[in-house]
Amino acid sequence: MQVDYIIVGLGLAGLAFTNELKKNKKSFLVFEDNSQNSSMVAGGVYNPVVLKRFTPVWNATEQLQIALPFYKDLEIQFNKKYDYKIDIYRVFKSVEEQNNWFAACDNPTLSIFMDTKLIKEKHEGVLANFGYGKLLNTGRIDTKSLIEDYRNYLSERKLIRNESFQYEALKIYDNSVEYKDLIALKIVFCEGFGLTNNPFFNELPMQEAKGELITIHAPNLNVDFLIKAALFVFPLGDNLYKVGATFNWKDKTQLPTEEGKIELTTKLETFITVPYTIVEHVAGIRPTVKDRRPLAGKHPKHPNLAVLNGLGTRGVMIAPTLAKALYNYLENGIALDKEISITRFL
Ligand SMILES: Cc1cc2nc3c(=O)[nH]c(=O)nc-3n(C[C@H](O)[C@H](O)[C@H](O)COP(=O)(O)OP(=O)(O)OC[C@H]3O[C@@H](n4cnc5c(N)ncnc54)[C@H](O)[C@@H]3O)c2cc1C
Repeated sequence: MQVDYIIVGLGLAGLAFTNELKKNKKSFLVFEDNSQNSSMVAGGVYNPVVLKRFTPVWNATEQLQIALPFYKDLEIQFNKKYDYKIDIYRVFKSVEEQNNWFAACDNPTLSIFMDTKLIKEKHEGVLANFGYGKLLNTGRIDTKSLIEDYRNYLSERKLIRNESFQYEALKIYDNSVEYKDLIALKIVFCEGFGLTNNPFFNELPMQEAKGELITIHAPNLNVDFLIKAALFVFPLGDNLYKVGATFNWKDKTQLPTEEGKIELTTKLETFITVPYTIVEHVAGIRPTVKDRRPLAGKHPKHPNLAVLNGLGTRGVMIAPTLAKALYNYLENGIALDKEISITRFL
């Protein structure tokens, strides 16, 4: 069988690149082995403001301009909702934080995303003595449903193989690659933290950033916005709320831990005072890069091998822009921005 591209991994990165191929009528085959699950457990929140310091997220405005139509198109394609627009309410801890918020509202890059009013509403079960600052144009992508639907779509068309890609079986020629029964012009690796097992690209400085999330059932918590305090809490409907996430820079496993659960519940109880029960607890590893920028580019010796990775903590916003940039680089020779190109490391 002959295709234009082999794709390894169908999380957000693989999905965005595959969709780019589909739009451009390129043929492809995807390999997916469920060895990583960052995109399946992600909170899916997109938010252009760093909520600790009230500074703009790197390239957020440009990324959203590509990401929002990207998810809209997928909603049309699958006739299903994935993009849930939701306001984010940042709980202020002090008057100083309120002042920092209003100072940041004057920044022209941030002003379209930050409401200048101090929100003083009271909500049962939420401690917010200094009120809230409200973010605009924010939301949440249901990444799990989107990826499941995309994988099913590919599966029905026999465009995905649910098996591990075995790197040692890849044969590389000048203008093509061969893998078992397949010949392809190019191969793009989108394995998330699984990149660390890839002998062609494992020199890239990937850093594990494990995250854990819980889902709680809290019938007395009546909020229809996303609360950001020590953690994110966002409503899923039916009195269910997703709560997250932890950051662990050492643990390379994807299993939920007791330690993670204690951290989440302890932090949650600093600002949520109503009773709740935990109904789900998940974990995954964010593919984060040392310099906190994504990874795109070709192998220095084998130009038909490419990588798309390093989505870090903000895969929802970055993946569509990064996939487009890599496609334009591979197919149209448009140079990659230095900040995302792997030439900064290899
Ligand atoms: C707890 C948590 C919360 C998060 N919350 C948010 C959030 O609110 N907003 C946001 O934007 N981002 C969030 N993220 C980050 C986001 O999940 C990532 O940026 C993004 O999902 C990474 O996508 P990816 O496709 O690069 O990697 P992955 O999702 O890990 O996908 C890689 C895929 O490759 C497959 N694979 C790997 N090796 C092989 C192989 N050899 N053969 C076949 N298949 C292979 C894996 O099975 C996997 O499906 C969160 C992450 C975590 C863990």
